[in-house]
Amino acid sequence: MDITPAWLRERGLRAVLFDLDNTLVPYKTYGEAPQGLLEWLEALKEAGIQVMLVSNGSRRRVRYWCEKLGVPGFGPAGKPWFGFRKALRRLALAPREVAVVGDQLFTDVLGGNLIGAYTVLVPPLSKREMGYTRLVRKLERWVLQNPSLGLAAWGNEEFDPKEPRQEPTISKE
Ligand SMILES: [Mg+2]
Repeated sequence: MDITPAWLRERGLRAVLFDLDNTLVPYKTYGEAPQGLLEWLEALKEAGIQVMLVSNGSRRRVRYWCEKLGVPGFGPAGKPWFGFRKALRRLALAPREVAVVGDQLFTDVLGGNLIGAYTVLVPPLSKREMGYTRLVRKLERWVLQNPSLGLAAWGNEEFDPKEPRQEPTISKE
């Protein structure tokens, strides 16, 4: 929620493509969206920022959350290779006008960078993940914390992609 209309505007960004699981809501959860989340999404939209979910989750799950959150979106998107270009076409925007926000380096951030979008990596909301994702996290951690790879953005030692950034607020499954 640190992503504000002003922050986006400063960077020339006119739309945000959000990942769903562990970015906006904890993995596998259903239920009511937290009021703060809804208000923040509403504030983005009111400021003229287009918002879209691009998720690798099931069609049913993505549809459920699009409705709850009041934003358009689609899934399964096939990130990192597919999905973002489709979103750009739907929004009729150039890659440099779009931010991609997600919790995974090898789906969200890689996919966003492959199309030339502005990417934002956030710590996951929940420690619960698919077995496969947990495996990929090990590689992700290695990449993010290896200084010789020169990822200057990771000067922030407090950032640990394995640590959930807050208690999940949605628990009904
Ligand atoms: Mg995710």
